[in-house]
Amino acid sequence: MDALRRKVIEDGVVIDEKILKVDGFLNHQIDAALMYDIGQTFYEQFVDQGVTKILTIEASGIAPAIMAAHRFDVPCLFAKKAKPSTLNAGYYQTDVHSFTKNKTNTVIVSEEFLSADDKVLIIDDFLANGEAALGLHRLVEQAGATTVGVGILVEKSFQQGRSRLEEAGLTVSSLCQVASLTGNKVTLVGDTES
Ligand code: 5GP
Repeated sequence: MDALRRKVIEDGVVIDEKILKVDGFLNHQIDAALMYDIGQTFYEQFVDQGVTKILTIEASGIAPAIMAAHRFDVPCLFAKKAKPSTLNAGYYQTDVHSFTKNKTNTVIVSEEFLSADDKVLIIDDFLANGEAALGLHRLVEQAGATTVGVGILVEKSFQQGRSRLEEAGLTVSSLCQVASLTGNKVTLVGDTES
């Protein structure tokens, strides 16, 4: 997706050889028009899959996920990283290790919002080692529901996420693929000079 690729090149800040900061349009300030277009793109890719729910993880997945949900005309559900005191009924839970924070969170969704007949499109901002997406997929499995695919905005292709998700039988669609962050420079897959 050209608009996202341009944003990553123009606004992305290389923190180190493994972490890219995109606070200018995704992780802190959000480019709403870009999120809208991303929602449309995921819709075009997964429109034939009978999607009934978009699932993401708080917080940074929510902006693109809600735009996709709006386009599919289905609810957007986000896994919470802490159990709120208001959630007393049953819930699904799993542990997810955060790549950027080097910390494991128990993430939960209420049983009320995910059921066996759901066809779920998982959306997240980044794909690194696949922990977040695999954790969300485990929540879908706990509900007896089906994951129809995983939509990612920025895939870091030099990490293991895609192969781990594909080994789990998941279809992965990423809109921008980063080949490397070496030399304080973002190089995208398919670009020799960027
Ligand atoms: P994974 O679970 O695939 O190992 O990592 C993806 C999750 O970690 C995403 O939810 C994202 O929030 C965060 N993440 C991983 N790598 C990066 C990165 O380079 N930059 C930012 N901003 N977040 C990242």
